[in-house]
Amino acid sequence: MAAKFIFVTGGVASSLGKGIIAASLAKLLQARGLRVTIQKFDPYINIDPGTLNPYEHGECYVTDDGAETDLDLGHYERFLGVRTSKANNVTTGKIYHTVITKEREGAYLGKTVQIVPHITDEIKRRMLLLGKTGEYDIVITEIGGTVGDMESQPFVEAVRQLQWELPEEDCVSIHLTLVPYLKAAKELKTKPTQHSVQLLQQSGVQPDIIVCRTEYHLGADLRRKVALFCNVKPGHVIESIDAWSIYQVPLNMHEEHLDELVVRHLRIENFAQPDLTNWRRFLGRLQSPKASVDIALVGKYVELQDAYKSILESFIHAGAANECEVHVHTVHSEYLDDGNAEEKLGGMDGILVAPGFGERGLEGKIVAVRYARTRGIPFFGICLGMQMAVVEFARDVLGYADAASTEVNPKSEHPVIDLMEDQKSTTIKGGTMRLGAFACKLEKGSLAEKIYGTEMISERHRHRYEFNSEFLDLFQNAGMKATGRNPETGLVEVVELPGHPFFIGVQFHPEYKSTPENPQPIFCAFVKAAMDKRAESGKKAKMRPEKESGSGE
Ligand code: GLN
Repeated sequence: MAAKFIFVTGGVASSLGKGIIAASLAKLLQARGLRVTIQKFDPYINIDPGTLNPYEHGECYVTDDGAETDLDLGHYERFLGVRTSKANNVTTGKIYHTVITKEREGAYLGKTVQIVPHITDEIKRRMLLLGKTGEYDIVITEIGGTVGDMESQPFVEAVRQLQWELPEEDCVSIHLTLVPYLKAAKELKTKPTQHSVQLLQQSGVQPDIIVCRTEYHLGADLRRKVALFCNVKPGHVIESIDAWSIYQVPLNMHEEHLDELVVRHLRIENFAQPDLTNWRRFLGRLQSPKASVDIALVGKYVELQDAYKSILESFIHAGAANECEVHVHTVHSEYLDDGNAEEKLGGMDGILVAPGFGERGLEGKIVAVRYARTRGIPFFGICLGMQMAVVEFARDVLGYADAASTEVNPKSEHPVIDLMEDQKSTTIKGGTMRLGAFACKLEKGSLAEKIYGTEMISERHRHRYEFNSEFLDLFQNAGMKATGRNPETGLVEVVELPGHPFFIGVQFHPEYKSTPENPQPIFCAFVKAAMDKRAESGKKAKMRPEKESGSGE
């Protein structure tokens, strides 16, 4: 079957969880046997979020093919278990870059280059692109931002044109809004939704389905009112009530018949009921853990949870796999020092030192590594976290007081973490790191090999600096082993301390590939190690009350 297209826009407010709704619908359609992908069109001008500070848009997610993308792509992969690529995240910057490059090449044959048709044509071309590969039955496009934003107008116009160009049964438009509850009036209010849909209609886009985010159930009257005033069929107003977990949302959407409405609209014949057996099993484990652990997440972007999105999600997956509730305590590395380490890390069953860039909070990360290493607390270092494990070992065990990464101290006599050769001449910041999936060969008998259960793995990277192999022998002789290497270049990707209960640092980002149905092995093993540590210390489990569906969190 030729690909069909679903467009998801949002209104009233940002952060309503458009990505989760898109991913949930995708999951349901996939569970009905359809081949689905999701793409995100972001109206900002950056070519990609790679140059954005995490405080701006949260984590930068990296795909196998090395694209630095919006964190929603992480949700897409986690829900679908299907890899995304460069083509799945398009920004205004990318669109203009293509159009301006073509203009300079003279491709427009002397025409005046304009937003309509040139920019909108390029947006449409990209919206249809994945549908042409033959790999997908359904392509869901999420439009970032909220309708009415000046910068999202060309995208909404492109949706309008496609709605007009494509056969009706090949295109669905879904609009996500908020129905706020006014405490004083004790009422849910639909007016913002009506206004948002009017705004969309002014741009010529008629939604087929309206999904309303709400804290309370929408009654039949209210749904009818939204349907009538927004010009959608009764029954096409869907409630999306606050859920106890984002992973519950596909089930809620199914109960609301969202997937059924979509397959009917798209006239997909003989569709099966969704098979969500594995998903439900995961949710069951998530809902009733039998143990709990406290894990410190040491990083400098802790004020914003989204900055470590994939790591936090990986803990949810690994927790469910171990039937264990993982309490992640964020510890600000900028304010961590030897004097307060006991107070901040004392009660922890495991310590994860997070990825990051630049000098701020770096010494605090080293303090966290030292605390975990010297006290036998399970340790997991990711990217910069691994690099700081190497620096800490060089300082405290090898005795190089000035050991450093040249990222922060280019003059160090002991640059144990150094810039890769091919990075030395790079001056451009965007898209020039070591990015995407690389193979890694694990040493037989190592902790890493035991964890993965195989010698050859592939994980994703996003960094400029590397373990400096000039120091490798010194490290190995003193007890820090390089147990994972790139098979082609020999670059060190994994370090371990064999005498320690659980100490692993990885240059790659394992968190990008964890999904509920396929939890990441290192995260699973780390949670297990933390559980063992806790059992050994005799600390009691600290459990939250039993979760209920739809109870709101
Ligand atoms: N700043 C370090 C580098 O560029 C680590 C990057 C990261 O943690 N993602 O190598």
